[in-house]
Formats: sequence, C-alpha cells, structure tokens
Amino acid sequence: APVSRPCICGGKSGLPINTGNVTSQIARNYGLPSMGSTNTTNKCLNDLHGPDGQLPEKLRNVTPYYIEQVSNEIMDKNPDVHWNDIAGLTHAKKCVNEMAVLPLRRPDLFMGCRSPGRGLLLFGPPGTGKTMIGKAIAGEAKATFFYISASSLTSKCFGEGEKLVTALFGVASCRQPAVIFVDEIDSLVSGMLMSWPIKATLIFIARPRNEYEVTGRIKTQFLIEMEGFAGGNEQVLVIGATNRPQDLDEVAQRRLTKRLYIPLPSSDARAWIARNLLEKDGLFKLSNEEMEIIRDLTDGYSGLDMTNLVKDASMGPLREAMEQGIDIMELKKEDMRPVTLQDFMNSMQEIRPSVSPNELGTFEQWNKQFRGCPL
Ligand code: ADP
Repeated sequence: APVSRPCICGGKSGLPINTGNVTSQIARNYGLPSMGSTNTTNKCLNDLHGPDGQLPEKLRNVTPYYIEQVSNEIMDKNPDVHWNDIAGLTHAKKCVNEMAVLPLRRPDLFMGCRSPGRGLLLFGPPGTGKTMIGKAIAGEAKATFFYISASSLTSKCFGEGEKLVTALFGVASCRQPAVIFVDEIDSLVSGMLMSWPIKATLIFIARPRNEYEVTGRIKTQFLIEMEGFAGGNEQVLVIGATNRPQDLDEVAQRRLTKRLYIPLPSSDARAWIARNLLEKDGLFKLSNEEMEIIRDLTDGYSGLDMTNLVKDASMGPLREAMEQGIDIMELKKEDMRPVTLQDFMNSMQEIRPSVSPNELGTFEQWNKQFRGCPL
C-alpha cells in the first residue's frame, strides 16, 4: 500500500539519526504526518537488520521514512521478466548477459581484467524494451530490482531527493546482488546543467533556480554513491536509461562505461510481439500471409506501439458486436469472432508509430560515435 509522504522541505532538516524503530516518534517529534503504520516500517527495517540486530553501517544515518519508501515503492524483489519475454534484440541480450548477468551471478570469475563496469547505459527510442531489459537482468541474475525515474527524484522537495538516493544505494547494498535502474537519466545528468554558465540564461528561463539547485545536489549525491561502489566487491549494477543520450554530460558518460543501443524492433520481432500477445489470450487465428502483411505495415512501430496496436485490434470483435446491437452483458466469450487482419488495419489508422525517422537518425549517429559494446 502506498505510504503517505511527508514533505519535509521548509526547515525540517536535521532529522534524527535512525536508531531502528522510531518512525512514529520522529513523526510526532517533528510534527510530520504519520509515515504509514509502524508495523510496515518495522518490517522494512527488521528485514534489513544484520545478525547483530543492528542496521548495516550504510543505513544507520538514513531516516527510516526513506528506507521505507525505497523498500515499498522502488524495490521489486521479484521482477518477473525473462529473456524469452523480450522480442528480438539478440545483440543487446548477448551484450547484457556478458556485461551484467554473468558478473552478478559469478563474481568470482569476473575479477581483475574481467571486472565489469558498475554502470550501463541503455539508450534508444521510447518503448523499445529498455526497462524490460533492466528487469530481465535482475530476473536472470536473481538480483533485487530497484526502479526509479530521475524526473521523479528531481521533482521532490529540496533535500528529499538526495536522501532518497542515499537510502536507495544503502538498501541496494543490503540486498545484493542488486540492479538499480534509473529511468530518464538525462533529466539528472544533462549537458545543459554542466555547460553552465554559457547556458545559464536558458536554464533560468526554463527552470526556477531552486529546481536547478535540487537537480545539481541529487546528481552529486548520485555520483558520490556510485563512486562508493567503484573498486569494491559490491554486487550492485547501476543501469541508466534514456531517450535523449545526446543530453548526457561527459561525467555521466564516463560513469556509465558500457553503452548499448536498444533500437526499434525488427519486422520479425514486431510479428513476434503481435503473435505472442494474441496467443496468450487464445485469440491468435491469423494466417502466415496475414502476419506478413501486418509485419510489413508496421515498419517504424516500437515494441510499445505494437503492444498498443494489438490491444486496440483485439477490441475489434467487441466493437463490431456493439455496432450490431448485441448486448455485451449477454455475449459469450466463445461466440466472439477472432481478431482479423481488418481489425489490425482499422487500428493502424489510430495507432501510429511514435518515433519519427528524424529522431531515429539522432540515435544511430550517437550510437556510431559513443557505443560501448564491441560484440
Ligand atoms: P522503454 O523502457 O524502452 O521505454 P519498456 O521496456 O518500458 O520501454 O517497454 C514498454 C512496453 O512495450 C513493455 O511493457 C512491452 O509491453 C512492450 N515492449 C517494448 N519492447 C518490447 C520487446 N522488445 N519485446 C516485447 N515487448 C516489448
């Protein structure tokens, strides 16, 4: 259940050191709203206590509220995505297996010359499976998955974002092996912020000063935390994902040493997505020739566009029944006609490719210039 979020900006700094089970007391002392039930908080914290009954060193200075937020809203102990769920992307899967999954599973083999980078960047158009890959890495490596969107961090009150980042890395370190997936990482580490003061005027027009400061502080905290892992034996991988790789500054590029282009799906992958989704629901009745046509007509569709197309096309039989005046409440599932090629053609009028050829050109150019996976 979502935890009620106290906004602790505005002079509430200096919250007490976390001693374990004092969340409600902290809330009372500082006049904050309740931070969820004490039981939930205790459970989150108790799960993290070591055999000595103490919280690990990394979490001792972290306010329980942030630990609770990471445990309840950001952590996913069981990301249920596997390679077989992801269409195409054979090259990306092969690279990721070598740079991320195997090192997390066999750290003893990946030492010295073979020691992996701690950061991986997945870039490409939206809806191509970057988040799915992050989850699959965690799933295949039996690692705990942490998902956070950088824009959700930067929209927090002054001081909150950094604390959440510290809690995030602290909890991840207690839950090793772990994968921290930072979506929209460009909004945290963009070249625009680094090229100050040349673009200062622009920044101040586009962003209130406070927001600029907030982003800078969170970014610094992020880099400090990542630095803390460098060279150590921690099994924590940070994955950044972005649709705007050209906005990343040099510092971010240096930290995310491996970079992988996640392109639009091939024609075979698009057909696989359509078939797989319909088959799961027992709705697949299309011939090979019809699938060929769908495959050709969906050139430029992302994985997400394909998913939306299939969902819309699968509404075709229902819409037709309603147009014929059939009472949907009385309609039996087995009496419905299958999804046809015509349903797909109708849906293609509405669901169009979301990525423009221009945008694709930018990704391909960036990939040529900065790609990091040699396979
Ligand atoms: P991104 O992180 O690149 O924006 P996601 O991984 O969140 O994209 O994908 C969004 C949705 O699109 C997924 O939940 C899935 O339904 C579909 N999808 C995208 N790419 C693929 C793919 N390669 N194979 C199967 N489904 C995909």
